Amino acid sequence: MAGGVKVGRRRMIDSNGTPGSETNTPVRRLAAVDEKITEAARDVGRSADSVTLIAVSKTFAADDILPVLEAGHRDFGENRVQEALAKWPALKTQFPDTRVHLIGPLQSNKTKDAVGLFDAIHSIHRPKIARAVADEMARQGRTLELFIQVNTGEEEQKAGVMPRDAQRFVAECQQDIGLNIQGLMCIPPTDEEPAVHFAFLAKLASDCGVSGLSMGMSGDFETAIRFGASHVRVGSAIFGERG
Ligand SMILES: *Cc1c(COP(=O)(O)O)cnc(C)c1O
Repeated sequence: MAGGVKVGRRRMIDSNGTPGSETNTPVRRLAAVDEKITEAARDVGRSADSVTLIAVSKTFAADDILPVLEAGHRDFGENRVQEALAKWPALKTQFPDTRVHLIGPLQSNKTKDAVGLFDAIHSIHRPKIARAVADEMARQGRTLELFIQVNTGEEEQKAGVMPRDAQRFVAECQQDIGLNIQGLMCIPPTDEEPAVHFAFLAKLASDCGVSGLSMGMSGDFETAIRFGASHVRVGSAIFGERG
């Protein structure tokens, strides 16, 4: 395929690699994931630009992330506020248009730091957190993209609102708390068919009147795109296995 270096979301580098080059680097793997996104989107008549690839860099050091930034990628995901605070302020200074997404749970005592650093939060699931985020965005004059996490598998150990409460919670966030909710997020149970959860989340989002769908990880992002994912969160397929 035609490739070459291009700053932007798609086709940043030739995914076929150049002769003798290493194929096993985050930048090469990112290009391969990007190709798969483009194909999965095309299969269902969607444009690749309608999917945001969040490169999940949790547990990886700034040194591992830097080449991916240099290749032009700008959306990254972290699941811990403290870890993100240690890495991202410096990287964001170097690459100011970077967008860092919080994909893990947020405690209310970390809200100030989280709102100051992140550009999106995918894990809103309690009124208390929603209010704290709203207050802090007003105080800091910042607007983040917000997703409601839904516990589609109704798993005890997993965060998220129960599906039956989702519509009411979205309405509460929008009408009572004044938040602009972008969409819904889910993490399907590991032992279940993800497609069922993706289809369910898509239907639920439509019922809630929101369009964003944050779903799909390394093992199932193509499936998620077929079911309408607007944001896929891909870690190990880009950065390698986490230690
Ligand atoms: C770690 C993580 C991911 C990425 O998982 P991979 O399987 O490595 O792609 C996606 N979403 C959330 C919420 C995560 O915590």
